[in-house]
Amino acid sequence: MIFCLLTILGTSFRPLTFTSSCVIDGGITIVVFFTILSTQTLRFSQGGLIIEAPTEADLQALEAEIGCLPKLEERFTVSRPKRRRPQIIILGVDNSVDKDHLLKGLLAKNHFLADSKNHALIDIIFPIKARRSTNWVASVDPGIYKLIFDQPGLYFEFSRLRFDNFFGVKQCHHCKRFGHTTKWCPRKEDTFCTRCGMDHPVDTCKDIICVNCTESNQRFKSGFNVNHGPKDKVNCNSFLRQKDNLIRLTDYGPSPGSSD
Ligand SMILES: [Zn+2]
Ligand SMILES: [Zn+2]
Ligand SMILES: [Zn+2]
Repeated sequence: MIFCLLTILGTSFRPLTFTSSCVIDGGITIVVFFTILSTQTLRFSQGGLIIEAPTEADLQALEAEIGCLPKLEERFTVSRPKRRRPQIIILGVDNSVDKDHLLKGLLAKNHFLADSKNHALIDIIFPIKARRSTNWVASVDPGIYKLIFDQPGLYFEFSRLRFDNFFGVKQCHHCKRFGHTTKWCPRKEDTFCTRCGMDHPVDTCKDIICVNCTESNQRFKSGFNVNHGPKDKVNCNSFLRQKDNLIRLTDYGPSPGSSD
């Protein structure tokens, strides 16, 4: 049995979300996450221990084991987490189109984006502005995910918009670590190299190496190549692992022929 203990340092608290993950024997990933609302209460909200196992049988064995530890069982309930909705990015929307306009326009021309009671099965979340047009990130109901990807595009007014999968791996611009954004960086006060995220001034930065892969190698002996920048989405194994985790925690709807 492995326990993770996270110590919280410092007193200037805003709501903070911590994520930590480790891989134990047998390829089981343990992800610990919790949110601190304030120093006064130090209440854990949405607190939990997410345990992922390679097979359903492994998961049941773990569940049984947790159930056998009275101390744990008194304080925690074991439940299956609700998986997140898949996200897509809708590309090349005219800059003058706002969120409501986009949603209404999509619902008018793509009837499968609403259920029989006319409730939208798509939720427009946020824009990513590009120079000439805007890309919009949306979440979709798992039940229509595959249907959407059978379409050549999404019709909007007199155009057909292209779209793709969107994997929102959170990465902090300040410390370059994954799992949080700059706003909630737990190491806001610390200075990092703006180029690689390591603990040295940027003018002494020589070889670009990835802070996340370096730390992963130190902690988990993962043997990742470190000769890339921390924002490299192609060569960074740490990023790819984050992305894989996100995909595993996403509900892409029932696959053809499966009963779930
Ligand atoms: Zn950070
Ligand atoms: Zn550097
Ligand atoms: Zn890396």
